[in-house]
Amino acid sequence: MLTKVIEQSNIDHFVKWFERAEKIVIVSHVGPDGDAIGSSLGLWHFLNSQDKIANVIVPNAFPDFLKWMPGSKDVYLYDHYKEYADQLIAEADVICCLDFNAIHRIDAMEEAVLASPARKILIDHHLHPEDFCKIIISHPGISSTSELVFRLICRMGYFSDISKEGAECIYTGMMTDTGGFTYNSNNREIYFIISELLSKGVDKDAIYRKVYNTYSESRLRLMGYVLSQMKVYPDYQAALISLTSNEQSQFEYTRGDSEGFVNIPLSIKGIVFSCFLREDTEQPMIKVSLRSVGTFPCNQLASEFFNGGGHLNASGGEFYGTMEEAKIVLEQALEKFKPLLNAKG
Ligand code: 5GP
Ligand code: MN
Repeated sequence: MLTKVIEQSNIDHFVKWFERAEKIVIVSHVGPDGDAIGSSLGLWHFLNSQDKIANVIVPNAFPDFLKWMPGSKDVYLYDHYKEYADQLIAEADVICCLDFNAIHRIDAMEEAVLASPARKILIDHHLHPEDFCKIIISHPGISSTSELVFRLICRMGYFSDISKEGAECIYTGMMTDTGGFTYNSNNREIYFIISELLSKGVDKDAIYRKVYNTYSESRLRLMGYVLSQMKVYPDYQAALISLTSNEQSQFEYTRGDSEGFVNIPLSIKGIVFSCFLREDTEQPMIKVSLRSVGTFPCNQLASEFFNGGGHLNASGGEFYGTMEEAKIVLEQALEKFKPLLNAKG
């Protein structure tokens, strides 16, 4: 049995909207990840089963390793179909905002979503949700938005209408936001939910291979290069990897090629904090990705030094300056957080 994570009043409120709604739009964050697409398509499959006119719209492309997901071809990319997407957003009865806590995370879609007269519901697991939705289902203690979508559908009484395809999407989001159930994944209810998803015919081993074992040769070579340049800070139990735009062009870098790299230094014994700095080729900034194991709060470091935020063990931010400057800031951050980095726990 699952505990009732989502407040009953939010379920009741959403059910009222859901029963009346014909057109439902699902939106998620820029640079959609497995949980953004998994939760969106998980909900989309369910809404389709209830004969709603549902559409998923995300700001821009998602990585190739998610393109096998059932329904992924029906996801609208706002940067390609702005006009049509604007119309869908404007005419929606309900807009479901999935896997983001701040309206700027949907990038260019912000204006259209805010301007739409649709009723809006937030379903998310990031800290400190902004107040742009009437119903706010926000549970930072839950490791993925996909899990929240599963819980919502079940609490509405529709477990039996979750299809194999919908279950695959939900499983993918749960798996990717926990690094294949290797972090944020000690809640035993996760495994109860997985068991329920398996009952729908999900092949979890195949999903793992489809998501994680799909490297291109250039990605694997890039990984080898990045790791050969890695800097380890033994006094801080930390490691840094980086990628300049020059290096990206040497390795025929395509979007998503460095996805997950930030986790690799954590496989060194004793390292509790990893930072990945990647020069963006579209905007003059450095994308910062942070990961930790145990109690080290990446999100505090991200917000104090890199204009960002996120979860305790997985956060990110942005840096405006050169790669060398970003590395200096990281080293200042390490000094400031040294006591926490060296804390046992
Ligand atoms: P990633 O390293 O995979 O890009 O991001 C990991 C997590 O950090 C995301 O799920 C998100 O919660 C958070 N995050 C990433 N980039 C930013 C950012 O620029 N600002 C904020 N506030 N959070 C971010
Ligand atoms: Mn998520």
